[in-house]
Amino acid sequence: MSNKYPFVEDTLGKKLAAGTGLSVSCLTCKRRALLDVDELANRLGPDQSCMHWDLVKVIYCHECRAAGREDRNLQFTNHALTPEQRKGWTPSP
Ligand SMILES: [Zn+2]
Repeated sequence: MSNKYPFVEDTLGKKLAAGTGLSVSCLTCKRRALLDVDELANRLGPDQSCMHWDLVKVIYCHECRAAGREDRNLQFTNHALTPEQRKGWTPSP
């Protein structure tokens, strides 16, 4: 599998350090969501791989699971976050 994105962060911890984001699309119901990398790293540990085949083991589409549809028909997208989108960014009072 070639890496067509200019990202080298292969774990959640590295993604946090780099400040890059991760979104997921459900190909079954076409829902799309921005994943909370911070929360995922807390829950799964910073060493959790964020490669597709590892993420599909721990992430599923809640909507499709509830409806009894294929719930791991997922596509993950790495992207850079603007400073405003980075979790924890708050304007100073
Ligand atoms: Zn779905």
